[in-house]
Amino acid sequence: MKIGFIGLGNMGMPMALNLLKAGHSLSVFDLSAQAVQALVDAGAKSAESPKIAAADVECVITMLPAAAHVRHVLTSDDGVLAGITQSVTIIDCSTIDPLSVKEFAELATKRGNVFVDAPVSGGTGGAAAGTLTFMVGASAAQFEAIQPVLAGMGRNIVHCGDVSTGQVAKICNNLVLGVTMAGVAEAMALGEALGIDPKVLGGIMNTSTGRSWSSDTYNPYPGVIETAPSSRGYTGGFGTDLMLKDLGLATDAAKSARQPAFMGALAQQLYQTMSTYGNGKLDFSSVIQLYRKNRSSDVQ
Ligand code: NAD
Repeated sequence: MKIGFIGLGNMGMPMALNLLKAGHSLSVFDLSAQAVQALVDAGAKSAESPKIAAADVECVITMLPAAAHVRHVLTSDDGVLAGITQSVTIIDCSTIDPLSVKEFAELATKRGNVFVDAPVSGGTGGAAAGTLTFMVGASAAQFEAIQPVLAGMGRNIVHCGDVSTGQVAKICNNLVLGVTMAGVAEAMALGEALGIDPKVLGGIMNTSTGRSWSSDTYNPYPGVIETAPSSRGYTGGFGTDLMLKDLGLATDAAKSARQPAFMGALAQQLYQTMSTYGNGKLDFSSVIQLYRKNRSSDVQ
C-alpha cells in the first residue's frame, strides 16, 4: 500500500521502518531533515511538505507530539487536507485529546475523507519490535479497512468504539501509569530510607499485591530492573514532559466530564515539578528523584 507518514520521532521512526519492512511504500515528512534522511536510506520517498506526503497515497499516518502539531499538519496551506485525494483515510497515532479528534474527524468528513484515532501503547521498545497495542476509534468498517496497515506496526489492535474512543482508552491507561509510577517511586524511596535492599523490596512487590508494570518492568530505582531507564541514567523511554502532557489531557477531560481525578491531579503536579527543574526530557520514572536524598548521582 502507498502510505504518507508524517512525524518520524522516537516512535514514528521505528513504526515507519516496520511499514517499509512489511512491504508498504512510504512518502515521509518531518521537520528534522536527519530523520527524513534515515527513512530515505531505508527505502522511503522524501516529501517536501505534509501536502506532498499526502498526495497520491492510499492512507496517511501522523505520529506527532500534541494536538497543536496535528492541527498544523492537517490544516495549514501545505497541510495534509490540502493534498489528499477524497476517500483516503488519515490515521492519527499521536496521543491527543478526544475533543480535538472529533474536530479533526469533522474537518476530514467535510472534505470526503475519514479521520481515525489510533494511539499506541508499548513505548519505543514496542515500536521497534512491531508489537505495539493500537487503541482504535472508528466505525466497524473503517476499523476493518485499516487493520492491514496497523498489523505492520503492532500486535494487539483493539477497536474501542467510535472516533475519539481510542484516545479515551489511551489517556485513562496513562492516568493509571502516571499514578502507579509515583506510587512505586514513593514506596521504593521509603524502603531505602528505612534500610531494606531495594532489589529485595522490588522483588517482594513483584510477587505481592503491589505489583504493576511500573514495578516489574520499569522500576524507578536504579539497578532493580537492568533493562529499565532507571538503570541507564533515565535516558530513552517515555519522557517526563510527555507524561505531563498525558496527565494534562486526563485532568482536562475529567474537568469537561465533571468527573473527579484526585490522583491524576496530584501525579500531574509531581511530574510538573520535575519538568520545572529542567528534567522534562528524562524518562518519567525519574520522578523518584523527588523522594531520594542522593538522587543526582543516578542521572547521566
Ligand atoms: P517525538 O518528540 O520523539 O517525535 C515527534 C516528531 O514529530 C519529531 O520528529 C518532530 O520533528 C516531528 N514534528 C513536530 N512537529 C512537526 C510538524 N509540524 N511537521 C512534521 N513533523 C513534526 O515524540 P514521540 O516520542 O515519537 O511521541 C509521539 C506521540 O506518541 C506523542 O503524542 C506521544 O505522547 C505518543 N507516545 C509516545 C510514546 C513513547 O514512549 N515515546 C509511547 C506511546 C505514545
